[in-house]
Amino acid sequence: MRLVLLGPPGAGKGTQASNIIKEYDVVHISTGDIFRKNIKEQTDLGKKVKDYLDKGLLVPDELTVDLVWDRLDQEDCKNGFLLDGFPRTLAQADALQKGLEKRNINLDKVINIEVDKNVLVKRLAGRRVCTNCGATYHVDFKPTKVEGVCDECKDHSVIQRDDDKEETVLNRIEVYENQTAPLIGYYKDLDLLYNVDGTLSVNEVFEKIKSCLNNM
Ligand code: ADP
Ligand code: ADP
Ligand code: ZN
Repeated sequence: MRLVLLGPPGAGKGTQASNIIKEYDVVHISTGDIFRKNIKEQTDLGKKVKDYLDKGLLVPDELTVDLVWDRLDQEDCKNGFLLDGFPRTLAQADALQKGLEKRNINLDKVINIEVDKNVLVKRLAGRRVCTNCGATYHVDFKPTKVEGVCDECKDHSVIQRDDDKEETVLNRIEVYENQTAPLIGYYKDLDLLYNVDGTLSVNEVFEKIKSCLNNM
Protein backbone atom coordinates (compact mmCIF):
# COMPACT_ATOMS: atom_id res chain seq x y z
CA MET A 1 0.00 0.00 0.00
CA ARG A 2 1.09 3.53 -0.75
CA LEU A 3 -0.51 6.07 1.52
CA VAL A 4 -0.42 9.75 2.40
CA LEU A 5 -1.51 11.18 5.76
CA LEU A 6 -2.83 14.70 5.40
CA GLY A 7 -3.94 17.11 8.10
CA PRO A 8 -3.00 20.25 10.01
CA PRO A 9 -0.22 20.26 12.60
CA GLY A 10 -1.54 18.48 15.69
CA ALA A 11 -4.27 16.54 13.84
CA GLY A 12 -2.78 13.22 14.96
CA LYS A 13 -0.83 12.16 11.85
CA GLY A 14 2.18 10.88 13.77
CA THR A 15 -0.02 9.16 16.34
CA GLN A 16 -2.03 7.33 13.67
CA ALA A 17 1.11 6.56 11.64
CA SER A 18 2.52 4.61 14.56
CA ASN A 19 -0.76 2.62 14.73
CA ILE A 20 -0.86 2.01 10.97
CA ILE A 21 2.70 0.66 10.70
CA LYS A 22 1.98 -1.91 13.42
CA GLU A 23 -0.89 -3.34 11.38
CA TYR A 24 0.14 -2.87 7.74
CA ASP A 25 3.30 -3.54 5.79
CA VAL A 26 4.30 0.07 5.10
CA VAL A 27 7.37 2.14 5.89
CA HIS A 28 6.67 5.32 7.87
CA ILE A 29 8.26 8.38 6.28
CA SER A 30 7.89 11.62 8.24
CA THR A 31 9.66 14.57 6.65
CA GLY A 32 9.45 16.44 9.98
CA ASP A 33 11.22 13.55 11.77
CA ILE A 34 13.92 13.42 9.08
CA PHE A 35 14.53 17.16 9.35
CA ARG A 36 14.65 17.07 13.17
CA LYS A 37 17.10 14.15 13.16
CA ASN A 38 19.39 16.04 10.81
CA ILE A 39 19.19 19.18 12.95
CA LYS A 40 20.04 17.17 16.05
CA GLU A 41 23.02 15.56 14.31
CA GLN A 42 24.07 18.92 12.83
CA THR A 43 24.38 17.55 9.30
CA ASP A 44 24.59 19.82 6.23
CA LEU A 45 20.89 19.25 5.62
CA GLY A 46 20.17 20.03 9.27
CA LYS A 47 22.01 23.36 9.02
CA LYS A 48 20.07 24.25 5.88
CA VAL A 49 16.62 23.58 7.34
CA LYS A 50 16.92 24.63 10.99
CA ASP A 51 15.77 28.22 10.47
CA TYR A 52 12.62 27.12 8.68
CA LEU A 53 11.59 24.71 11.41
CA ASP A 54 12.35 27.24 14.16
CA LYS A 55 10.05 29.77 12.47
CA GLY A 56 7.35 27.26 11.57
CA LEU A 57 7.90 27.91 7.86
CA LEU A 58 8.04 25.27 5.17
CA VAL A 59 11.38 24.00 3.94
CA PRO A 60 11.76 24.83 0.19
CA ASP A 61 9.99 22.40 -2.13
CA GLU A 62 12.96 21.30 -4.19
CA LEU A 63 15.02 20.28 -1.20
CA THR A 64 12.08 18.46 0.36
CA VAL A 65 11.06 16.64 -2.82
CA ASP A 66 14.61 15.41 -3.52
CA LEU A 67 14.90 14.17 0.03
CA VAL A 68 11.61 12.26 -0.18
CA TRP A 69 12.43 10.59 -3.49
CA ASP A 70 15.85 9.53 -2.22
CA ARG A 71 14.02 7.82 0.61
CA LEU A 72 11.19 6.33 -1.46
CA ASP A 73 13.67 4.79 -3.91
CA GLN A 74 15.25 2.71 -1.17
CA GLU A 75 14.58 -1.00 -1.17
CA ASP A 76 12.43 -1.10 1.98
CA CYS A 77 9.80 1.15 0.40
CA LYS A 78 9.15 -1.20 -2.53
CA ASN A 79 6.29 -2.95 -0.70
CA GLY A 80 4.63 0.22 0.42
CA PHE A 81 5.01 3.46 2.33
CA LEU A 82 3.12 5.90 4.49
CA LEU A 83 3.99 9.55 3.90
CA ASP A 84 3.39 11.69 7.00
CA GLY A 85 3.76 15.45 6.56
CA PHE A 86 4.50 15.23 2.83
CA PRO A 87 3.28 16.63 0.47
CA ARG A 88 2.55 20.00 2.05
CA THR A 89 2.28 22.21 -1.04
CA LEU A 90 0.69 21.82 -4.47
CA ALA A 91 4.18 21.84 -6.02
CA GLN A 92 5.19 18.92 -3.76
CA ALA A 93 2.01 17.04 -4.63
CA ASP A 94 2.67 17.52 -8.35
CA ALA A 95 6.26 16.36 -7.96
CA LEU A 96 5.04 13.28 -6.11
CA GLN A 97 2.49 12.44 -8.83
CA LYS A 98 5.09 12.89 -11.59
CA GLY A 99 7.61 10.71 -9.78
CA LEU A 100 5.03 7.99 -9.18
CA GLU A 101 4.02 8.01 -12.85
CA LYS A 102 7.65 7.74 -13.92
CA ARG A 103 8.00 4.64 -11.74
CA ASN A 104 4.66 3.19 -12.87
CA ILE A 105 3.18 3.15 -9.39
CA ASN A 106 0.33 5.04 -7.74
CA LEU A 107 -1.08 6.14 -4.41
CA ASP A 108 -3.83 3.95 -2.94
CA LYS A 109 -5.31 6.44 -0.49
CA VAL A 110 -4.87 9.88 1.04
CA ILE A 111 -6.18 9.93 4.60
CA ASN A 112 -7.19 13.44 5.63
CA ILE A 113 -7.49 13.91 9.41
CA GLU A 114 -9.83 16.84 10.10
CA VAL A 115 -9.50 18.88 13.31
CA ASP A 116 -10.60 22.46 14.15
CA LYS A 117 -8.08 25.15 14.88
CA ASN A 118 -8.99 25.62 18.58
CA VAL A 119 -8.48 21.91 19.23
CA LEU A 120 -5.16 21.97 17.36
CA VAL A 121 -3.75 24.69 19.59
CA LYS A 122 -4.55 22.63 22.70
CA ARG A 123 -3.07 19.50 21.18
CA LEU A 124 0.17 21.16 20.10
CA ALA A 125 0.64 23.10 23.35
CA GLY A 126 0.33 19.85 25.32
CA ARG A 127 2.33 17.65 22.95
CA ARG A 128 5.49 16.08 24.33
CA VAL A 129 7.88 13.96 22.31
CA CYS A 130 10.67 11.53 23.09
CA THR A 131 13.82 12.81 21.39
CA ASN A 132 15.32 9.35 21.71
CA CYS A 133 12.68 7.15 20.00
CA GLY A 134 10.14 9.63 18.61
CA ALA A 135 7.16 8.46 20.69
CA THR A 136 4.50 11.16 21.10
CA TYR A 137 2.59 12.03 24.27
CA HIS A 138 0.16 14.67 25.51
CA VAL A 139 0.15 16.19 28.99
CA ASP A 140 -3.63 15.68 29.34
CA PHE A 141 -4.70 13.13 26.72
CA LYS A 142 -1.73 10.72 26.79
CA PRO A 143 0.65 11.44 29.65
CA THR A 144 3.83 9.41 30.21
CA LYS A 145 3.63 7.07 33.21
CA VAL A 146 6.57 8.86 34.83
CA GLU A 147 6.93 12.57 34.06
CA GLY A 148 9.63 13.26 31.48
CA VAL A 149 10.39 9.55 30.98
CA CYS A 150 9.40 7.74 27.79
CA ASP A 151 7.11 4.71 28.31
CA GLU A 152 8.58 3.02 25.22
CA CYS A 153 12.34 3.37 25.61
CA LYS A 154 12.55 4.49 29.28
CA ASP A 155 14.86 7.32 28.28
CA HIS A 156 14.62 10.63 30.19
CA SER A 157 14.17 12.47 26.89
CA VAL A 158 10.53 13.54 26.77
CA ILE A 159 10.37 17.25 25.97
CA GLN A 160 8.28 19.93 24.29
CA ARG A 161 9.32 20.65 20.71
CA ASP A 162 10.58 24.23 20.24
CA ASP A 163 8.11 24.76 17.43
CA ASP A 164 5.21 23.70 19.68
CA LYS A 165 5.50 26.92 21.70
CA GLU A 166 2.40 29.06 21.21
CA GLU A 167 3.77 31.73 18.87
CA THR A 168 5.16 29.25 16.36
CA VAL A 169 2.05 27.08 16.60
CA LEU A 170 -0.20 29.85 15.28
CA ASN A 171 2.25 30.45 12.45
CA ARG A 172 2.26 26.79 11.51
CA ILE A 173 -1.52 26.62 11.44
CA GLU A 174 -1.62 29.63 9.15
CA VAL A 175 1.02 28.10 6.87
CA TYR A 176 -1.14 24.96 6.77
CA GLU A 177 -4.27 26.90 5.83
CA ASN A 178 -2.53 28.83 3.05
CA GLN A 179 -0.24 26.20 1.57
CA THR A 180 -1.39 22.72 2.55
CA ALA A 181 -5.20 22.85 2.81
CA PRO A 182 -5.52 23.17 -1.01
CA LEU A 183 -4.25 19.59 -1.23
CA ILE A 184 -7.62 18.38 0.07
CA GLY A 185 -9.28 19.46 -3.17
CA TYR A 186 -6.33 18.21 -5.20
CA TYR A 187 -6.66 14.65 -3.89
CA LYS A 188 -10.45 14.75 -3.93
CA ASP A 189 -10.25 15.43 -7.67
CA LEU A 190 -7.94 12.43 -8.03
CA ASP A 191 -10.55 10.37 -6.17
CA LEU A 192 -8.03 9.37 -3.51
CA LEU A 193 -9.36 11.28 -0.50
CA TYR A 194 -10.69 9.70 2.69
CA ASN A 195 -11.82 12.18 5.38
CA VAL A 196 -11.78 11.16 9.01
CA ASP A 197 -12.95 13.15 12.04
CA GLY A 198 -9.75 13.69 14.01
CA THR A 199 -11.56 14.92 17.14
CA LEU A 200 -12.61 11.36 17.96
CA SER A 201 -10.42 9.35 20.32
CA VAL A 202 -7.13 7.93 19.04
CA ASN A 203 -8.67 4.44 18.89
CA GLU A 204 -11.85 5.58 17.14
CA VAL A 205 -9.85 7.42 14.50
CA PHE A 206 -7.73 4.33 13.95
CA GLU A 207 -10.82 2.10 13.63
CA LYS A 208 -12.13 4.38 10.86
CA ILE A 209 -8.79 4.36 9.06
CA LYS A 210 -8.68 0.56 9.26
CA SER A 211 -12.17 0.18 7.87
CA CYS A 212 -11.18 2.41 4.95
CA LEU A 213 -7.94 0.54 4.24
CA ASN A 214 -9.53 -2.90 4.62
CA ASN A 215 -12.29 -2.04 2.16
CA MET A 216 -10.18 -0.67 -0.69
P1 ADP B 1 0.62 15.55 14.00
O1 ADP B 1 1.66 14.50 13.67
O2 ADP B 1 -0.52 15.57 13.03
O3 ADP B 1 1.22 16.91 14.20
P2 ADP B 1 0.44 14.18 16.60
O4 ADP B 1 0.15 12.76 16.25
O5 ADP B 1 1.82 14.51 17.04
O6 ADP B 1 -0.05 15.16 15.41
O7 ADP B 1 -0.61 14.62 17.74
C1 ADP B 1 -0.59 15.93 18.31
C2 ADP B 1 -0.87 15.83 19.82
O8 ADP B 1 -2.24 15.46 20.02
C3 ADP B 1 -0.04 14.78 20.54
O9 ADP B 1 0.26 15.28 21.82
C4 ADP B 1 -0.95 13.55 20.62
O10 ADP B 1 -0.67 12.75 21.76
C5 ADP B 1 -2.34 14.20 20.71
N1 ADP B 1 -3.38 13.44 19.99
C6 ADP B 1 -3.26 12.80 18.80
N2 ADP B 1 -4.46 12.25 18.44
C7 ADP B 1 -5.35 12.57 19.42
C8 ADP B 1 -6.75 12.29 19.62
N3 ADP B 1 -7.47 11.60 18.73
N4 ADP B 1 -7.32 12.76 20.75
C9 ADP B 1 -6.58 13.48 21.65
N5 ADP B 1 -5.27 13.77 21.51
C10 ADP B 1 -4.65 13.32 20.41
P1 ADP C 1 3.54 18.42 12.55
O1 ADP C 1 3.66 16.98 12.98
O2 ADP C 1 3.22 19.30 13.70
O3 ADP C 1 2.61 18.62 11.40
P2 ADP C 1 6.05 18.06 11.23
O4 ADP C 1 6.93 17.30 12.15
O5 ADP C 1 5.39 17.32 10.13
O6 ADP C 1 4.99 18.87 12.08
O7 ADP C 1 6.87 19.25 10.57
C1 ADP C 1 7.67 20.10 11.35
C2 ADP C 1 8.33 21.15 10.45
O8 ADP C 1 9.16 20.50 9.46
C3 ADP C 1 7.36 21.99 9.62
O9 ADP C 1 6.87 23.10 10.35
C4 ADP C 1 8.27 22.42 8.46
O10 ADP C 1 9.16 23.45 8.87
C5 ADP C 1 9.11 21.17 8.22
N1 ADP C 1 8.48 20.27 7.24
C6 ADP C 1 8.02 19.01 7.47
N2 ADP C 1 7.51 18.46 6.34
C7 ADP C 1 7.66 19.38 5.36
C8 ADP C 1 7.34 19.44 3.97
N3 ADP C 1 6.73 18.41 3.35
N4 ADP C 1 7.64 20.57 3.28
C9 ADP C 1 8.25 21.60 3.88
N5 ADP C 1 8.57 21.62 5.18
C10 ADP C 1 8.29 20.55 5.93
ZN1 ZN D 1 11.38 7.04 23.79
